Amino acid sequence: MNANPLPDMVRGIAERKIRVIDLTQTLTPDFPQIELPPEMGQCWPFRLEEVSRYDDRGLAAYWNNFSCGEHTGTHFDAPIHWVSGRNLPNNSTDTVPVENMVAPACVVDCVKHVEQNADFLLSADFLRNWEEEHGKIPPRSWVLMRTDWSKRADPESYQNFDEEGQHTPGPDTDAVRFLVEERDVMGFGSECIGTDAGQAMHLRPPYPCHYYIHGAGRYGLQCLTNLDLLPPTGSVVFTAPLKIKQGSGSPLRVLALVWEG
Ligand code: MN
Repeated sequence: MNANPLPDMVRGIAERKIRVIDLTQTLTPDFPQIELPPEMGQCWPFRLEEVSRYDDRGLAAYWNNFSCGEHTGTHFDAPIHWVSGRNLPNNSTDTVPVENMVAPACVVDCVKHVEQNADFLLSADFLRNWEEEHGKIPPRSWVLMRTDWSKRADPESYQNFDEEGQHTPGPDTDAVRFLVEERDVMGFGSECIGTDAGQAMHLRPPYPCHYYIHGAGRYGLQCLTNLDLLPPTGSVVFTAPLKIKQGSGSPLRVLALVWEG
């Protein structure tokens, strides 16, 4: 790289030739929170409590306290989140290298399949077919699974529980191994509440996306939205989690840059 490309980039954003797309859901107490079996520990949903709003608690100021689990709303999973990544270097939100927080994205459209089957599993063959059309997934890119799941505004349909548990799409074991071992991806992103499918406890190993992605020191993104506004290739995403000491993840604002020319 000879000339500094940053002024061109900033001009491109100002002129809307580069669009900034928000891939983030709004944090509200109503947004679905991951529900774990009752015998396990539970993650707090998002809560907001007013400190003052230009009133006798503080005439000039409006501000709030908030509380939530690390894995709330649109959020980032660090390698330390899973037992397979527990002993890796730079595995928590405070030590993830910042260079890894800016990376290209490949968007894999699974919408038609998920419309037919909420338990749809993205396979390695599906990814190979995607590559036939869009080119090889570059190393250190995000693979974002587009399902349009984020369009389910009703929390019950977003969670999609029945007596067997949750029914949401995700990758199968071969797909995850292909992405980690043969494509060296930066991470895997989903519009659903987990990177793994709702029924992924029945896969081997259970929750293969968590197991292999975090075991390789890479990352997860969940509860993404607006993936339908991204091209299959060519976008760049910014994924900086809060710098929580030894954090296993955090809510974050995920932004994508898209060249519109
Ligand atoms: Mn998570």
